[in-house]
Amino acid sequence: MFVLVEEQVGDNNQVIKYYESSLLQKDGLTHAFTTRIGPGMGEYGFTLGTGRNPALDDIVSTNRKKIVNALSLDGKKTVIPKQEHTNNVKVISNLSESLELTDGVITDNPKIVLMLQFADCTPIILYAPDKKVIGVVHAGWKGTAGRIVCNAVKKFEENFNIKPVNILAGIGPTIGQCCYPVANDVYSKLKNSVNISSCQAFKIFDNDDKIHVDLKMINQLQLQEVGVENIDVSKFCTSCDNDLFFSYRAENGKTGRHSAIASIEGQK
Ligand SMILES: [Zn+2]
Repeated sequence: MFVLVEEQVGDNNQVIKYYESSLLQKDGLTHAFTTRIGPGMGEYGFTLGTGRNPALDDIVSTNRKKIVNALSLDGKKTVIPKQEHTNNVKVISNLSESLELTDGVITDNPKIVLMLQFADCTPIILYAPDKKVIGVVHAGWKGTAGRIVCNAVKKFEENFNIKPVNILAGIGPTIGQCCYPVANDVYSKLKNSVNISSCQAFKIFDNDDKIHVDLKMINQLQLQEVGVENIDVSKFCTSCDNDLFFSYRAENGKTGRHSAIASIEGQK
């Protein structure tokens, strides 16, 4: 279950709204799936933008600091990889590593905050409470077709000797099946990414003849295939719930980004 949290930040007591997964919350992980409701959204419609428009860089970086502060994680180093719709996952033990072409990051370093950006793609936070290791994954259709979340689970095993059954997963707000018709080549790549012949993740809707895809369900199935049992899935569709989240499709590409953020040993 995803739970709404409101925090007041800054001198004017502006409100930031974000969601936590009750599954991740239960074991004390400091994390957030942010919304578009927070300071900075007013003038530009951006809360936590891509940073690809240099004119907005300062605003975006200020807003990122505000959300990190709202989570009481100031003083830690925020790590933001350069997401490129790959299925590459990197384990970060120190801060000097290159994060080009990286769509998933994992760390056991309590001084690090992991932060990835989204507007329709699937945010996934992984947490192994026993060994205090976290991961954040960006799974759009390409990353999902490349089973990026399974790559992340494999790295938990290889690098920290953590069994999938001991990993908790929170799958955040994503464009829903209701709003995500795809072309046939995308459909076949996603279909091949799960080991089942048919499932509810692929459906034809009455109002058009295209196959609609449920990215959250595909990522959930992939996690289950590799042995992750405890999975919390958000009910939100970023397009239907566009007042709460950014949607690349609903806003024709001109939109901001919400974030998935995690840090172990937060001070909250
Ligand atoms: Zn929808």
